Amino acid sequence: MTQYAFAPAETPSVAIKGSSARFPVRRIFCVGRNYAAHAAEMGRPVDKATSEPFYFTKSPDTVLPSGSKMTYPPGTKNFHYEMELVVAIGAPIFRATEADAEKVIFGYACGLDMTRRDLQLVAREQGRPWDLGKDVEQSAAISEIVPYAELGMLSKGEIALSVNGDTKQKSDLSYLIWNIPELIAHLSKFYHLQPGDLIYTGTPEGVGPVVAGDKILGHIDKVGKIELEITSAE
Ligand code: MN
Repeated sequence: MTQYAFAPAETPSVAIKGSSARFPVRRIFCVGRNYAAHAAEMGRPVDKATSEPFYFTKSPDTVLPSGSKMTYPPGTKNFHYEMELVVAIGAPIFRATEADAEKVIFGYACGLDMTRRDLQLVAREQGRPWDLGKDVEQSAAISEIVPYAELGMLSKGEIALSVNGDTKQKSDLSYLIWNIPELIAHLSKFYHLQPGDLIYTGTPEGVGPVVAGDKILGHIDKVGKIELEITSAE
């Protein structure tokens, strides 16, 4: 047994529908600008013919289960929700074909990529990394994972989000610019994807701010729902 100088942190993990076992999180990849209408609202439209998907990462530590209260984070005045489909990887794959990609999907979850939009945009304009905007503590909210065996390949279905009962985002998975097999194939050109990896596949249009006291409710057809309450800053 390895001896550590102090007890290592517990492995972040996610509940799995119909199982008492949990999904141990290894890495969190997030896709930027993967719905045309969201890319346009961010002032950076995407032409699939001439571009490739891009990614940022969050620390596994940022995982937060649905139903949690999230503390409004420090250092921002414009904290945004982004409702996303999350793909959970269940087997190793490298340089996948799109056909192979389907075989490594463990399941799907509803996710929120919570974002310090003010800091992300400053970083973007100054050509700096997005970490302060995106790798926010508690910012990778996630529902239980629904196994692939139950859902198969997801290519359509409503994805929506409301804040305090008002609908803010409403789109469909069929509007993903890069679909799930394309994302897994592309990402696996750069990484040896491993069981425990999560891919947040991007958010549709309608992103916006939340404040303390707000209640977020997101859902994706067949996958389920995610709930989050924002509480006062520390
Ligand atoms: Mn996002």
